[in-house]
Amino acid sequence: MRSEAGLPVPAPSPTAETAEFWAATARGTLLLPRCDECSTVIWYPRVFCPACGSQTVSWIEASGRGIIYSFTVARRGMGPYKDAAPYAVAYVELEEGPRIMTNVVDDDPGSLEVGMPVQVVFHDTGEGSALYRFRRAGGGDR
Ligand SMILES: [Zn+2]
Repeated sequence: MRSEAGLPVPAPSPTAETAEFWAATARGTLLLPRCDECSTVIWYPRVFCPACGSQTVSWIEASGRGIIYSFTVARRGMGPYKDAAPYAVAYVELEEGPRIMTNVVDDDPGSLEVGMPVQVVFHDTGEGSALYRFRRAGGGDR
């Protein structure tokens, strides 16, 4: 299945550690694990805190807002992305702190800028799951 932006939407492969995260994306919610001991927001989802080693981690609902921390324009796609280029691969710094690797969609990749505010969107895989991606924040349809 392909998104309206032309990127393929390959289904994720949830593990025991990420099943809750992926179940939430299918509902249109971005969840992040946060350490109950030291409040570190953890990425990628895992069941212990990489900062303090605590195993008491709870899910919080992210705002879905962030900024482009860095990005590159892929001129040649690989695997399922073979025919999708050019497209933007970015690290988005979430309001909650983590920097997550993602795609920024719905824009000419050449028009993106570091520091640009973005918000999460979810692309349905057609298989009961969804991928998180980001697009320019603002616009008239929020
Ligand atoms: Zn911790």
